[in-house]
Amino acid sequence: MKKVVFTLFICAILIAACQTTSPVAQDSKKTIVVTYSVLGAVVTDLVGADANVVVLIPNGQDPHEWEPSAKDIEMLNKADLIVQNGLGLEGGLQKTLSLTVQQGVKTFIASDHITVRKVGQGEGVPNGGADQLVGAADPHLWTDPLTIKQVVAGLVEQLKTDLGLDVTTQAQYLDNQLDSLNNEIITLVATLPESNRKLVTGHDSLGYFAARYGFKLVGAIVPSLTSQAEVSAADLAALKTLIQENQVKAIFTELGTPPAIAQAIGTETGVKVVQLSTHILPADGSYFTFMRNLAQTIIENLK
Ligand SMILES: [Zn+2]
Repeated sequence: MKKVVFTLFICAILIAACQTTSPVAQDSKKTIVVTYSVLGAVVTDLVGADANVVVLIPNGQDPHEWEPSAKDIEMLNKADLIVQNGLGLEGGLQKTLSLTVQQGVKTFIASDHITVRKVGQGEGVPNGGADQLVGAADPHLWTDPLTIKQVVAGLVEQLKTDLGLDVTTQAQYLDNQLDSLNNEIITLVATLPESNRKLVTGHDSLGYFAARYGFKLVGAIVPSLTSQAEVSAADLAALKTLIQENQVKAIFTELGTPPAIAQAIGTETGVKVVQLSTHILPADGSYFTFMRNLAQTIIENLK
């Protein structure tokens, strides 16, 4: 027993020794601060061990409303490159991000490099929240792997110019993986009858997914591109009618969805309420697992 304890003690010393030396080795690398966890997973896949990737908004916190502390602001100011989603996703961070740009911190805005989706006619709930207007730009770009490919292409260029990092090889590998993921989801969606491809979500978060895979956006509990908008009784009444008219099979709730409201709509319409992870990375931290879980949960529950 004593021997075991002693061995463990030695191991602990060795681990501690390794840990104290590793930050020195990492210091020579550039630091990329990514605002949002799902985007951070993609950036990590792209740069591998060539840079330190730090995610600012803790995974599981609502990116629409999260606000930085003084320490977070300091981290942003010290970044070699900031990667942000853009289109107002980082609502509580917006002012800080504008200031860091003014101070000359290099910034990559993912949404500048994609085909931006705009809110379409008849989408969502009539008389919805202020930003749920036809033509409003949708920030939820990560729900489509092919849009992520556009982000990767833009980031490869900027990593070269701003940080002198050449990640062309990793980018090619990542591109192939994203194509495979897209094909996988297409195959999965094909198992779902077309008339069942109808989405009701916590807020209007699955527009890119819907556009890519042929789903109809019936409505959202919070009729907005953010989880932080007001919900009116008239909106909820309109949503209930839409759910019944469209014979929607499930109501998907997300981070920031008021659970009592979701449950009430479910009970009143007789439609099941299912939790869906649209803004949180799974335990393995992988974008690919995130998208597979997302697609599988949607398809299993709409069958
Ligand atoms: Zn959202």
